[in-house]
Amino acid sequence: MDGVQAVEGFFDPETQSLIGSKCQGCGTYAFPAKSGLCGNPRCMSDQFDLVPLSRRGTVWSYTSASYQPPPPYVAADPFVPFSIAAVELEAEGLVVLGQVVAGVANADLKVGMEMEVVTDVLYSDDEGNKLVWKFRPVEVAK
Ligand SMILES: [Zn+2]
Repeated sequence: MDGVQAVEGFFDPETQSLIGSKCQGCGTYAFPAKSGLCGNPRCMSDQFDLVPLSRRGTVWSYTSASYQPPPPYVAADPFVPFSIAAVELEAEGLVVLGQVVAGVANADLKVGMEMEVVTDVLYSDDEGNKLVWKFRPVEVAK
């Protein structure tokens, strides 16, 4: 997919993986990638590796955005309502918020359903497409 990332550093469009951090001290994952002290209160490490996170996870919660959301969700203009899912990533157990691909409504979502991370267009402007990660139900992809 052609375009540039709407927000740098959160996502790798080549591998369609979210980029998180893994603490070198205790192995705790974080998304967005952490800097400063580890989020684990028993760990004093401030050294993190940037790692690609699981491309699959399950829906933990979801809602619809019927209002203009805050950055990095720069929405289309005019604003088109869409669904947002909180997806718990398979391997890391992290809950990540993301927009759900167009054509999937809240009625199509349910807690526990399997989702995958895909690259999609967040919005387009004079310079071209701005890309972001979105979640797509795995069964829709088949
Ligand atoms: Zn740590």
